[in-house]
Amino acid sequence: MSETNEIPEGFRIEDHREGAQGVFTWSQVNDEGEPLDVAYELLGEARKLADKLGTFLATIVIGYNVKNHLEKLIHHGADKVFFVDDKRLQYPQVLPFTSIIEELIKQEKPEIFLFSATTFGREIAPRVAARIDVGLSADCTAFEIGDYVNRRNKVVFKNVLRMIRPSFGETKLATILGPWKFPQMATGRPGIFKPLPPDPSRKGETIEFTPTITDDLFKVKLVHTEKEQSDEIVDLKGAKIIVSGGKGVGAEGFPLLRELVEAIRANGQKAELGASRAAVEHGYISSKHQVGQTGTTVRPDIYIAIGISGAIQHIAGMKESKIIIAINKDREAKIFNYANYGIVGDYRDVVPILLEKVKQGYLFPIE
Ligand code: FAD
Repeated sequence: MSETNEIPEGFRIEDHREGAQGVFTWSQVNDEGEPLDVAYELLGEARKLADKLGTFLATIVIGYNVKNHLEKLIHHGADKVFFVDDKRLQYPQVLPFTSIIEELIKQEKPEIFLFSATTFGREIAPRVAARIDVGLSADCTAFEIGDYVNRRNKVVFKNVLRMIRPSFGETKLATILGPWKFPQMATGRPGIFKPLPPDPSRKGETIEFTPTITDDLFKVKLVHTEKEQSDEIVDLKGAKIIVSGGKGVGAEGFPLLRELVEAIRANGQKAELGASRAAVEHGYISSKHQVGQTGTTVRPDIYIAIGISGAIQHIAGMKESKIIIAINKDREAKIFNYANYGIVGDYRDVVPILLEKVKQGYLFPIE
């Protein structure tokens, strides 16, 4: 792969777009028809790709009562918003959602189509890809536009999508290309991309899309839905400071970490309690708090990892934090390789000192 303004001697340019154009995303909405945060995150990233290609950015919204929220997607970067508003589509359903997106792609012929790698996004993206016979790169953490020079076959593909994702247990980054069939298709990991700040003056088009939704697409009957009952709201993404506990903290240590979070909040700073998967699996704390590859991806100003060893699956979810502070009694713990500040010690000695400082009014340096 390399950027090339000049085509090397003896090389030819190949382009398989066949008129495909535009960057498209699927904007997932909730049961009330409101776009999820991931929809804005994906638009922010897709906007950059569309600008680099000099093309438009479109998105599709499928759900019920979505009409009131379409403008927000334009404010966040979309030029065109296709929407399907149907009571039968209020809740995620694999068959109709797959068919609708398949039909849109066949009609509009996008150059790139991106999904969010949410639970439902991961269900429908491969099905859509299989139906239109293109490849799919799953769980990407970065996208770029660039040229692909295939030296063996002496071919240059201009302005293709580089789909970048961690591989080999998150230790390496792989760049995946698919310039032979369009659209180039991928899912993007939630929590990685930054939404654009909304611009209410942005103008765009909203277009009602009327797909063929036959009754046989609704073979799965939704009998009953039950929302998880929990008073606890865990806002890991919105927190500026995350105090995260691992297996080393044990069940007895989490109340101390919670006290630290409360004390930070009492000083007017946005803090949240995080956890490693081992802490969740041992039942010290609920899974809503889990940070990492199979938990939430976070990027706070300050991440304090306490009694966490630094397994690669945990690191994958917090390495973008601005400042990482690690407290661990094992000086060889891997977490120290990623930390800006490391304290070797027992959390039972270290955390009470920090707590005392915070209670005296210490403010963390956040933006
Ligand atoms: P441990 O690795 O057991 O580490 C405990 C640490 O606490 C040690 O470093 C120890 O020195 C320290 N310690 C012990 N006592 C004290 C004390 N008194 N004071 C200070 N330090 C102390 N993990 C995640 O976190 N998030 C994920 O999303 C995730 N997804 C995964 C997905 C897959 C497919 C797989 C295979 C694994 C995943 N894991 C994930 C698990 C991951 O591999 C690790 O097992 C896990 O992160 C370990 O958690 P831990 O650091 O809390 O526990």
